[in-house]
Amino acid sequence: MTIHVLPVEIASQIAAGEVVERPASVIKELLENSLDAKGKVIIIEIRGAGRTFIRVSDDGDGIPENELSIAVQRHATSKISTAEELFRITTLGFRGEALASISSVARMTIISRTRDAIEGSRLLVEGSRIGKVEKIGAPHGTTITVEDLFYNVPARLRFLKQDLTERRVIFNLVTRYALAYPHVRIQLIEEGTSSFHTSGDGNRRAILASLYGVETAQDMLEARGNENGLKLSGFISPITISRSSRKEISFFINGRLIQDASLSAAIIKAYHTLLMVGRFPLVNLFLDIPPDEVDVNVHPAKAEVRFHNPEKVFSFIQRMIKRALLAYSPIPKVPPYITWGGLANGSDIHLDLQQQPSEKYQQEGIISNSLPIQNQAIFSSNVPLMRLVGQIGASYIVAEGPDGLYLIDQHAAHERILFEKLIAQKEQNAIASQVFLSPLVIEMAQITFDSLQNQLKVLKKFGFEIESFGQHTIRVNAFPSIFNDSDPTNAILSLVDEFEEDETPFQNKLESKIAARICKRMAIKAGQLLTQEEQYALIRDLEACVSPRTCPHGRPTLIHLSVDMLERQFGRKGAK
Ligand code: ADP
Ligand code: MG
Repeated sequence: MTIHVLPVEIASQIAAGEVVERPASVIKELLENSLDAKGKVIIIEIRGAGRTFIRVSDDGDGIPENELSIAVQRHATSKISTAEELFRITTLGFRGEALASISSVARMTIISRTRDAIEGSRLLVEGSRIGKVEKIGAPHGTTITVEDLFYNVPARLRFLKQDLTERRVIFNLVTRYALAYPHVRIQLIEEGTSSFHTSGDGNRRAILASLYGVETAQDMLEARGNENGLKLSGFISPITISRSSRKEISFFINGRLIQDASLSAAIIKAYHTLLMVGRFPLVNLFLDIPPDEVDVNVHPAKAEVRFHNPEKVFSFIQRMIKRALLAYSPIPKVPPYITWGGLANGSDIHLDLQQQPSEKYQQEGIISNSLPIQNQAIFSSNVPLMRLVGQIGASYIVAEGPDGLYLIDQHAAHERILFEKLIAQKEQNAIASQVFLSPLVIEMAQITFDSLQNQLKVLKKFGFEIESFGQHTIRVNAFPSIFNDSDPTNAILSLVDEFEEDETPFQNKLESKIAARICKRMAIKAGQLLTQEEQYALIRDLEACVSPRTCPHGRPTLIHLSVDMLERQFGRKGAK
C-alpha cells in the first residue's frame, strides 16, 4: 500500500476513539460542557443504557446561532485562544474535540439559545456530515441529543459491556459530578423515569445519603484543609465502613474528575493499616490547586493530570485524611452494651460471675463433650477449648487455652460461625427462615434495585424471600433465621452494597462464595461491644466450627500467644 492521508471521516473516527469510549464518556463531555456554560439545572436522559439515546440539557449560556456549525468542528472552542492559556485553564473543556468526536460516531442534534436571542437554533450532525442551521423555538440554554452511538463503528459496539454495567458507569459518573457541583441541580432520567436527582442547595451530605443510605452518609467524615494554595474539601469513610474495590474512591481537581492510580494509592496509604487487606475506603474529595501547578493536558479524556510538585500535593492530601480519621473515635459513639442478641441459642447459657474461671472452663468442656464424637475429633485438631477472659478494643475477644493466650477477631470469627451454619443448613436443605408478620418495605436507588433483581434467586436459596414492590422498592417477606439478630433493613441494604460492587453476574459464582459474602455482611463488626454472654457464645460457637482458624475469606480468626512464647518474651526462658 502506498502512503496516503486518511479521509477526514476515518481520521475523525480514530480521534473519536480516544475521547468516546462508551456512553458514559459522551455524558461526561456533554455534562462538562453544560457546567462550563454555567448551567444551574442539568438534565441527563438516557435510553438503552445510553447506546440508543443520550440527551443532556442545560439552562446555561447557550451557543450563538452563527457559531453553531463551528462548535462541531474539530479544535473549535470558545474556551482558550492562545498556547499560554493552556497553563491557566479554568474551564473543564479546552480542546474543542468533544462535539466533533461524538458527532463522528453518532447522530447528534444540538438545539441552543443564548440569553439575548429571541429564538433558538438547531443543527443536525451525522457521522461528520454537518447539516444546516435552522431556527426553532427553544428555551434558554442548550440541549444536545446523541442517538445510536457507534452506529457506524460496529467494532466499538462489541466492546461495550452489558447494559447494567454501562448504566452503573453512567450512574457513578453522574452522581460524582453531582457531589462535585452541589449547587447545580442535576437529574438522571433512565427510560423516562427519574433515577437520581439533586436539589442544587449545596448540601453534599444529602447527596451522599441518596447514594450510600442515610446511616453511612451520617458516618462519613468531613476532610477539610487549606495550605500553601491547596484547598481540600469532601468526605471520607471512617475505618468501620469500607468496600471490596477502589470504585468508591473519587477525586476532583479543580472541578475535574481525575482517575489517577498514584493519587488513589496515596489516599489508600493514608488509611495505612487501618483497613483490612483487600478493603478500600469510600472517598469523595475535591482539591483546588492553582492552575499553573497542574497540567491537565496529558490525557485524551483529561482523566489524568501531572502535578508540578506531586509530593507536596500527596503529602497534603494524606495529612488531611489522617487528621479527619484521627478526629474520629468510634468507641465513645457506641452506647455501652449495644447487643446483637447472642450467637448461640442463648437460653442455655447462664454465666455465673462468681464462678471461678477454671470451673467455667470445665463447664464449657462438658458442653463440648456432649457433641457428636465425629465432630469432637475435628475440634481437637483445630482450636482447643478456651476460657473467656474478656473483650478488648470492642473488637477482640481474649481467651485462655491449655497453652497460652488466644486473641480472637470477633468479626472474622463470627463470619466463620455464620458461614458454617448457613452452609450446613443449605446442604441439608433445611434453611431456616423467619417469616415477617409485616413484610419489610425497603426503598433504594434504581441502579441498586436493578442489581438486586439478578440476585433474588440465589438469595432465596439462602432463605431471603425478597420481591420487587413497585419502582425501586423491595418487600422482604422472610429472612434467614441465623441472622435474626441483625437489623434486617440495614442488613439487606449493606448486602446489596456488596453485590453492587460485583461486575460479574452473580449466578456464575459458587454458592459458597455467595454464602461467604452474605456472612461477611451479617457478622458482628469490629467496634461493637459484646455482653459477656455474647463473648462466651462466640468462643463456644467457634470451637464448634469445622475450620475455626480462618474466616471464609481466608483471614485468621485468632492469634495464639503460647506460654512458651510469652516466657521467651519476658526473658524467663531461652537464649540470653
Ligand atoms: P471544548 O469544551 O473543549 O471547548 P467541545 O467540542 O466540547 O469543546 O465544545 C465546543 C464549543 O461548543 C465549546 O467551546 C462551547 O463554546 C460550545 N458548547 C458546547 N456545549 C455547550 C453548552 N452546553 N452550552 C454552551 N456552549 C456549549
Ligand atoms: Mg467540551
